Amino acid sequence: MSKTTKRISQEILDAQDSLERRIRAHLQRGRVQVTLTDNRYTMISVRRVAKERRYEVRLHHMFADADPLITRALARYIADNDADASRVLGDFIDDNSGHVRGRSRRTPTTVIFTAGEHHDLRAIYDDLNARYFENKIDAAITWGARCGRPRRRNSIKMGSYSVEDRLIRIHRSLDREFIPRYFVAWIVFHEMLHQVHDIRVKNGRREFHSKEFMADEAQFEQYDEAKRWERRNLDALLTY
Ligand SMILES: [Zn+2]
Repeated sequence: MSKTTKRISQEILDAQDSLERRIRAHLQRGRVQVTLTDNRYTMISVRRVAKERRYEVRLHHMFADADPLITRALARYIADNDADASRVLGDFIDDNSGHVRGRSRRTPTTVIFTAGEHHDLRAIYDDLNARYFENKIDAAITWGARCGRPRRRNSIKMGSYSVEDRLIRIHRSLDREFIPRYFVAWIVFHEMLHQVHDIRVKNGRREFHSKEFMADEAQFEQYDEAKRWERRNLDALLTY
């Protein structure tokens, strides 16, 4: 078990209540329940309880004193996954991540941002973990940093897995409307497999994708479909 601490104090409860009220003021409907955290990685996570029109939101403490521009963006992000709101929040997090507790110089601040504008990495990861890995994969997942102006690239590193940080990073370019969920899931699945398969040394070279790895990868339900889709949409994929 990793070590976690949970602090409860009147001050924190008041801050949560206040933030809930300020976010709710911008919501058309639905209830919101805020928990403030000191999590080093996850700055925002949203769980939508659709049936009850309720949102369970975990927010880093940096949001406690957020101004109305930010609480409005939070409301839009929570309720609609709004793209502009997502950008506003991304900038706010970038500007404030110097305050993230426990940040060391060795570990650059990693802002974990799972809900994209079109795809929710948390949901995809949880689904794969349950379906293929008996929930045994223990990794964090995030969208990578935003990029500059769109251009045709020669290649894009769609995903990566850092063994030391147990962190899966998925390229922002995959958070686009034309990209089907199963394609994003395929990339996430590949990176999850890296936690299962050790990197071995073969003929003096590190072998990232062994025969066994490839065999496991082919177990992905929409493997052929994902490969076909990639080939057909390569130009659009690489233009980002
Ligand atoms: Zn790989």
